[in-house]
This record gives sequence, structure tokens and C-alpha cells, in this order.
Amino acid sequence: MSVQDSDSKDEFNLDDHLNENSQMNEDVRTSIGTMEKTGERKWVYPKKPKGKFTNYRTYVSYILLVILITTPFIKLPNGNPLFKFDVLHSQFIIFGFPFFTSDFFLLALGMITTIIFIVLFTMAYGRLFCGWVCPQTIFLEMVFRKIEYAIEGDRAKQIRLDKQEWDEEKIRKKLLKWTIFAIISFIIANVFLAYIIGADELYSIIKDGPIDNLGTLVGLFFFSAVFYFVFAWFREQACTLVCPYGRFQGVLIDAHTINVSYDFKRGEGTSGRAKFKKNEDRKAEGKGDCIDCGQCVAVCPTGIDIRDGIQLECVNCTACIDACDEVMLKVGLPTGLIRYASEDDIKRGEKFKFTKRLAAYTFALLLLIGAMTAFLLSRSDVESKYLKVPGTDYKVEGQFYVNQFEYTLYNKTNNDQIVSLKVLSHANCKIDMYEGPNKLNMEKGQIIQGKFYLKIPTSEVKSYKEKIVIGLINQQGKVIDKYETSFSAPFKY
Ligand code: SF4
Ligand code: SF4
Repeated sequence: MSVQDSDSKDEFNLDDHLNENSQMNEDVRTSIGTMEKTGERKWVYPKKPKGKFTNYRTYVSYILLVILITTPFIKLPNGNPLFKFDVLHSQFIIFGFPFFTSDFFLLALGMITTIIFIVLFTMAYGRLFCGWVCPQTIFLEMVFRKIEYAIEGDRAKQIRLDKQEWDEEKIRKKLLKWTIFAIISFIIANVFLAYIIGADELYSIIKDGPIDNLGTLVGLFFFSAVFYFVFAWFREQACTLVCPYGRFQGVLIDAHTINVSYDFKRGEGTSGRAKFKKNEDRKAEGKGDCIDCGQCVAVCPTGIDIRDGIQLECVNCTACIDACDEVMLKVGLPTGLIRYASEDDIKRGEKFKFTKRLAAYTFALLLLIGAMTAFLLSRSDVESKYLKVPGTDYKVEGQFYVNQFEYTLYNKTNNDQIVSLKVLSHANCKIDMYEGPNKLNMEKGQIIQGKFYLKIPTSEVKSYKEKIVIGLINQQGKVIDKYETSFSAPFKY
């Protein structure tokens, strides 16, 4: 394992910088910034970022962390959690609305809408999501990395510690860091478990103790180990080698997309970037504003040089913007050499344009959102369906025609319900269940099925295929769902 080739100083010092060398990575398009040519991992020691954007990102991250950690424990007045993704029982609760396997269509539509939103957002604003919102970036940069800085110090100290023998200092610092990392990984695994099984179930597992829940405990340790592996060792490779979203960048972004970009026109000038010399007239000499200090590389958590152009590895974390702005202020040049800008902006000074491609995706997104909203608003909490028992025909019983029906009732709520069936379209009808009374107990999330005899007075029937409406009535006497079906009668009608 070796260290990336860039500045190893924690603080940028103008005089020291005059003696430094750095070189442009010509192989940037054919290699990964965190890998040696031999395939060996190149460990990244990013310098601790500081500046305006880092501060904003820190505030946003803390807000998102609070939301992420507290969300599975928030309950709405109807008793539902805000979110629950119970893949084991195929039950999902999104913004308090329960979804079951029968709502697969809605979930699929929701996923397509989300993907189009991400595509649209990425086309316009690049990887803004990666730098500001992605849980991987937030946990790594705002939690684990901060702990690392606190225990091992900044970049130079970390490099020194890793190179030194396993003495008392190194053992103490490494053990402390790894223990804290392991505890946080275990906490994250618990939070994610709460998203899957719900907070109530998690509390009861904790109350019952580990012996009664060995399977869950093994799962928890497994996921804690996964989180530990990702945040303690795998790190930026999750973004550069694994994340599919990062891989899509090449096809999503174009010259109009806003990204963290190096202003190469300004930075390179007519004769290229050059080291800073006191009292020189850089403009007159054709030198660009980039003083080749390497600070943008030193802070980069993915180990790349932004000056080589937009790269797959860049997670738009803004650390290089802050680092470069600090340098620019020190040498008395305007800030913004690295900034949020599109290629068009940098090359031609063109500002953001709403392209035809963006318009087409926006239109598709609006259509999907409209369809989703319509489906959600028309979706009932309880679904009922009544069909004639196959192979049966009508019978005559005194003043009634009788049909045999089978019912399927689906309670999509998170509450048990007691319901009964009633014919809404015709008067004086009778419903006799095959078994038990016309009072059905539906447990939350349960589908129940059964059969009944439906008797309609002959005087009420006007057709041999009479259209009827059967309602589902709750304990308060409210109709909570309706279903239209047909009732067989003699052909004389
Ligand atoms: S190039 Fe800049 S924005 Fe991109 S990952 Fe590196 S430091 Fe962050
Ligand atoms: S872009 Fe800015 S931070 Fe990077 S080497 Fe040039 S002057 Fe230094």
C-alpha cells in the first residue's frame, strides 16, 4: 500500500510551495486514482478540508444524519411509522402509507419516477447528490473521517503514523479508532434494522435479550461488519468501483451539466500553469492562475486531480473548491478557479441552459408524478372483490334468487378491522356466510377469503345478468370499499 503522490503538508505555505514539484497525471483516462499500475491499492490520506462549502456541507450532513437516524423511530398519529421497508414480509410504509405486494405496480411506478428524477437532476446538476446527500459520503466524510482526524491528526500525521513501527502510540490510536468505528457501525446496523423490522420490533428484540434472538443478532453483527469494512477500509472505492450511479455519469452528463470543475482557461493561461513567484506579472508572462500547489489534490477524498478534467471518481464533494479558494486568497488572485460550472460556462462563458433533453425528461417525470398521485389518491385502504363461485348457477328460494359468491378482502391498513358485507344497489337482500356470521375480522395487512350465499328478492331483479354493488361496512357503519359484480337470474328478464 502506498501513499498518493501529492502534497503531504497539512497547511499550505507559499514559501515552501515554491520548491515543490507536482506533475499532471497523463494516465487519468485509463487508470483509477486510487490504484497503482500494479493493481495495488493506493491509500488516500485526504487533507482535512475547510472553508465555506465544507461548512455548508457539514450543516446539511448533520441535518440529514438526524433525519436518517430518527426517521424509523417516528410514529404518525395513525400508529404507522414514517418509513418501513419490511422486505421479509413484503410490507412497505412510505410517508406513513402502507404498501403491500398487491401495490407492486405503485412501487414500481415510484421507483421509475425516482430513477427519472435522479437522471434529470444529474443531467442538470451533475453529482450534487453524491457530495451533499449520499449516506456513503455523509457517513465517511462527516462521521468516520472526522473521528480519524480527531484521533490520528491531519494528513501528514496519518501518513507518519501508518509508516511508523507498532509502538505504544500507534497501538493506542489505532485501537481507539477501530473500537469507535466498530461501535458506530453497530449503531448504523441497528438503525437500518429499524427501517426493516420497525422500531417496535427492535425494542422488543432488545428487551427479550440476545439469547432469544440469536438469528437477528448474527444478522446485526454481519451488517455491522459490512459497515465497518466499508467505512474503515473500502471507503472511496464504494464510489469509484461499486456504485452504479457513479458509472452512469458518462452517459448522463454533457457540456451543459454543472459540476465541480477546474477553470482550465483561467488556470492554464496561454503558457500553462506555473509555480508562484513573488512579485511576478503572471498575465504578462501568459501564466495561468493555477500555481500548481497541489492543494486541490491533497484534499481530494477520491485521490484525483480535478485539473485533469471531469472524472468518474469525482463525487463533487467541493473540498477542492475550498482548498483552491484558500490558495487564491493567499496569493491575491480571484477565487473560483475551481467552482460549480458547466463545460460550456468555462469554455464560452455560457450559463445554464434548459436543453431539449432536459425538457423531454421533465415532461416524462411530470407525467409519472401525475399518474402516481392519481393512483395514490384513488387507492383505498381496504380492497374487496366478489366473484361468483365458478360452476354455480342461480337457485330460487321462495321470494329470492340465490347466487353463491366468493369474497377476497385485503386490509392494507396497519389496524385490525371488523367488517361486514352489504348489497348497496338493491333493497332487502340477505347475505348468509358459508361459515359464521356476516362479521369478519381482518387483521392488519391480512388477506381473507371465503364464500357466501347472496339472496336478492325476485321483485328487485331486472336482468338475467343483474349488475349489483356490494359494499364493505366497518364497525362505525361506514362504507369503506365498493365492488360492482353481476348476479345471475332466469333468462326471462
Ligand atoms: S475532485 Fe474535488 S470535488 Fe471531486 S472528489 Fe476530489 S475534492 Fe471532491
Ligand atoms: S487548482 Fe488551485 S489548489 Fe489546485 S494546484 Fe492549482 S492553484 Fe493549487
